Amino acid sequence: MSPNDQRKCPICGHLVTEQAEPRFKPFCSKRCANVDLGRWLGDTYAIPATEQEDEDGESSDMSGNA
Ligand SMILES: [Zn+2]
Repeated sequence: MSPNDQRKCPICGHLVTEQAEPRFKPFCSKRCANVDLGRWLGDTYAIPATEQEDEDGESSDMSGNA
């Protein structure tokens, strides 16, 4: 067991690796951070309905067509 920075996201349960931005920790992504923030604010935050996205490293918040 190595004391790594690997923790589980309290929102989605994904493993938070070094790929996750430190400012979003302990969450895996900005989306999960917003979800937690929304809970704090009383669900008044605008949370995207699409929560079935794969965390492949490609954050497609907007429609980014290549
Ligand atoms: Zn997460």
